[in-house]
Amino acid sequence: MVAQEDVIELAKRRGFFFGANGAYGGVAGFYTYGPNGAAVKDNLESAWRDRFTVRQGNMEIEAPTIMPEAVFEASGHLDGFDDMLVECPECGESHRADHLTEDNTDIEEAESLPVPEVEELIREHDLRCPSCDAALSGEPVEEFNLMFETSIGPGTGQPGYLRPETAQGIFVEFPRLKEYARNRLPFGVTQIGPAYRNEISPRKGIIRVREFTQAELETFIDPEEDEPPLHEVEDVEVTLYPATEQEDEEGEAYTTTVGEAIEKGVIGSDWVGYYLGVAQGWYERVGVDMDRFRFRQHLPGELAHYAADCWDAESEVGAAGIAAGSSGDGEEPRDGGDWIEITGFAYRSDYDLSKHAEHSGESFTVFKQYDEPKTVERAAVDPDMATLGPEFGGDAGAVADALQTLAERDPDAFDANEVEVEVDGDEMTVDSDVANFSVETVTENGEHITPHVVEPSFGIDRIVYTVIEHAYRTDEVDDEERTYLALDPEMAATDAAVFPLVSNDDRLLDLADEVTGDLRAAGLSVEYDDSGSIGRRYRRQDEVGTPFCVTVDRDGVEGDDPDTVTVRERDSARQVRVPVREVADELDALLDPEDDRAFDALTAAYDEIETGVETA
Ligand code: AMP
Repeated sequence: MVAQEDVIELAKRRGFFFGANGAYGGVAGFYTYGPNGAAVKDNLESAWRDRFTVRQGNMEIEAPTIMPEAVFEASGHLDGFDDMLVECPECGESHRADHLTEDNTDIEEAESLPVPEVEELIREHDLRCPSCDAALSGEPVEEFNLMFETSIGPGTGQPGYLRPETAQGIFVEFPRLKEYARNRLPFGVTQIGPAYRNEISPRKGIIRVREFTQAELETFIDPEEDEPPLHEVEDVEVTLYPATEQEDEEGEAYTTTVGEAIEKGVIGSDWVGYYLGVAQGWYERVGVDMDRFRFRQHLPGELAHYAADCWDAESEVGAAGIAAGSSGDGEEPRDGGDWIEITGFAYRSDYDLSKHAEHSGESFTVFKQYDEPKTVERAAVDPDMATLGPEFGGDAGAVADALQTLAERDPDAFDANEVEVEVDGDEMTVDSDVANFSVETVTENGEHITPHVVEPSFGIDRIVYTVIEHAYRTDEVDDEERTYLALDPEMAATDAAVFPLVSNDDRLLDLADEVTGDLRAAGLSVEYDDSGSIGRRYRRQDEVGTPFCVTVDRDGVEGDDPDTVTVRERDSARQVRVPVREVADELDALLDPEDDRAFDALTAAYDEIETGVETA
């Protein structure tokens, strides 16, 4: 385990990520990915696209990042996308009141508590400002909306917001997307792109930022008929931390299979269970350490009212105590880091589509054709408007509509001589004869249904961070300590680096150029480095996680082994001499994720060079 500060320092030094706008003092919550970080992020997004768009047969879209206010009125973000803010009366620093409470009390999910209760906890535990130690007791806790507001067009324009999640761009386009899916459920739509949240206290590098990248999949299903292909994942082993275990003092996460967890009702939705299984394989593929990973179920208080079952994928990062422990100040190194949410999996019912239908007046339904036409009885009224008109005046139309609604909901009500309906809060009484109630028999070919939504929502930046931190290793090579990133080759920014051992020998430089050209022609991303000692060049590549280094030395252009180069594997630091004409093919095969060939294949086929490696 490594302290987060060390990862953040390496990320800055080696061009993974760093605070943006440094020349102007920087603004908290915005990060720039340097060349290595941008490449790792791109690789991660490609791996996501491969698994959740291509291999699942889904459609990918790209919607605008600014959306009009009406969208967020409908989605509920305008009213409810708030975090709890408390400001320090002394230094003016803003803090998340729920996080302060969680960090200083036994309470684990303060976010779900009402504001007065959090104010009370701040008072009771005499919580203090983490920046200046002033007392926060008695300070008001406010609901702070996290959306960035802007205005669209010149003048006062119309209000717009930077989207706080990519999902809304999929939901609002549903009426058109269902046409592309030929009106057939189930179908899935994905989107990878930026989301914006005006976080109260951004922190920890790219873990809590104000602009980040989400990769979201919205699966639209018919809840009565569509089932996920559970057989594909039922034997997948997962570590689960269900709500019951979180609520039990002795409770803890445990390992089971997706199939068993669904059968026992621990996972409440087959669809959510299916995606946990698919995602498990994907996290392994991109290099999340599965010993520092779990799926945590939302506690009842955390669940949105429309959500049937929600789980978060969480990774464990950092070890705040490590740096303190090793500095010799007597503090014990902590044996655990922080658990961070890297993905949310939610069964969202028909909430999103119903809300957009209600607010936009558009149709967000799919016509579900029956296998055979159905003959159904339909209750209807045909009110005598000549009577209703004089009796109810301007409300007559509303009374007629209310009678029809009542007929559909409770046909037996019309057995009595009079029926009662409510219009704008007033009870209206109507003679049953005037309502003209009847039951008709009609043949229907299908019905309009509002699909339910199952959503895995991945936070790409937190996964990039996790993958880098979980790959962080130290050991000793040739009696020197080194740091390296044991990144999966699919994630590494560069596939291979080529080094000419010296820079004053033209034959050697020509050969290094030739090898670089061959590797690039084979589709590998290659870094060419001729500066500094060879040891330093290896260390640089080790620290960014380049899987292979190819060194061109004098032996390769003269002597016993002409036309050969050395190929060095990052993790073991073992080296072999490989003929120049074979290098591109050999590395291409080693880097191919579908080919499980290991470096041993090279040491078996070619001469190995002795090096000293010790793993700490
Ligand atoms: P949510 O819609 O809050 O469930 O967020 C979905 C995913 O986006 C989370 O699992 C996180 O990985 C990611 N995420 C949310 N907020 C942030 C943030 N401020 N910075 C980075 N990633 C975030």
